Amino acid sequence: MTATQNVVLEAPTSLEELWLPFTANKAFKKAPRLLGASHGMYYTSTDGRTILDGCAGLWCVNAGHGREPIVRAIAETAANLDFAPAFQMGHPLSFGLATELAKLLPGDIDHVFFANSGSEAVDSALKIVLAYWRARGQPDRVRFVGRQRAYHGVGFGGISVGGIPYTRAAFAAQLLPQVDHLPHTHGIAENFFSRGQPLQGANLADELETIVAQHGAETIAAVIVEPVAGSTGVLVPPVGYLERLRAICDKHGIILIFDEVITGFGRTGAAFAAQRFDVMPDMMTVAKGLTNGAVPMGAVGVRHEIYETIVEATASGIEFFHGYTYSGHPLASAAGLATLKIYKDEGLFERAAELAPYFEDAVHSLRGLPNVIDIRNLGLVAGVELESRAGKPGARGLDALVNCFNEGLLIRVTGDIVALSPPLIIEKGQIDHLVELLGGVLRDLG
Ligand code: PLP
Repeated sequence: MTATQNVVLEAPTSLEELWLPFTANKAFKKAPRLLGASHGMYYTSTDGRTILDGCAGLWCVNAGHGREPIVRAIAETAANLDFAPAFQMGHPLSFGLATELAKLLPGDIDHVFFANSGSEAVDSALKIVLAYWRARGQPDRVRFVGRQRAYHGVGFGGISVGGIPYTRAAFAAQLLPQVDHLPHTHGIAENFFSRGQPLQGANLADELETIVAQHGAETIAAVIVEPVAGSTGVLVPPVGYLERLRAICDKHGIILIFDEVITGFGRTGAAFAAQRFDVMPDMMTVAKGLTNGAVPMGAVGVRHEIYETIVEATASGIEFFHGYTYSGHPLASAAGLATLKIYKDEGLFERAAELAPYFEDAVHSLRGLPNVIDIRNLGLVAGVELESRAGKPGARGLDALVNCFNEGLLIRVTGDIVALSPPLIIEKGQIDHLVELLGGVLRDLG
């Protein structure tokens, strides 16, 4: 199956006016990589080449591209209810999606606040936490704890709790003031080339006790982590690590937020990483796979008690002064409903779990290729870490991306780490092809 049955968009007449995000604009415009159509597991480039999607677009398209029920839901909704105001008004689709999403979310996370992206979901979550502690009569609980090498989007809240130096550096003067960071869990030599969860490193969660001792638990509002850090190169949590974080949060009454923007919707072989690891957060942020990437949408899921506390604290009137013009947009809600139905009808989360061992063997077969210094995986996500060229971090990774694209494979790279996260509909033969293409590129990369 290829994307060729679709109309392939022609290359644009001018590349100049568009300022591309997180992209080396000057280099890109000299040698652009342009996608003109998508279907199933494949893109077609504007010059007509078929590209296997090794990263679900950008960790989004878990059900594969161009799914007819999603396309139809979006088209019908655009014709029937193109827009509905989100403030002091409602429409059936956003309520319906909240109901369906709440069924999938773990434990008693049963209330949903809609945003339009992962970044907005994260910033909304941080505000919900502050509103909660005010409502609980503990307004001094304002400190957030994030983690090194965390990515929580690009809002000021997200970059403050995030732990990537280059996303923070330019804005350092105006980050949220009361934020601490746990150490990341990567780089333990015994963990290299782990299959699934690495064995060493659960003790790194104990650093939270140090932060509590330093500031006092009564000042700490929440801890936010990605259960598997995605954007900084697929960092799988050590066995017991998340359990320990949960226990320390419980001990000190601290809210635990899982940012599941990448790990949600089957990526780890369960609906969410919370179920995959059997560790229940108090709040979750999701986006990407919620609508299969077809319409921008993010959401925050909160435990029953968090919602009740905030809305009951206000006798009448608006309880939470936050929201977006497009919160619960009809097109996004319709896309989300159609997407969740596909996941369920096709058993895609179970499929991801079934395929995981095959995927694991396939990606670990790259061990031993030139410059491959680590491979890690969980569910249908894997990271292949390449040694950086001396004095040129990221150069080898970017070359890998460009060469893969030229050979017909879309990958994601972070620095010198290749991240693989194919749509959950991938067939075994396509896994073989993906690894063969990537292996060929790594062999010749230099
Ligand atoms: N949180 C996590 C864990 C992410 O991986 C991302 C994006 O990759 C975000 C938040 C931000 O999402 P968005 O790019 O939709 O704002």
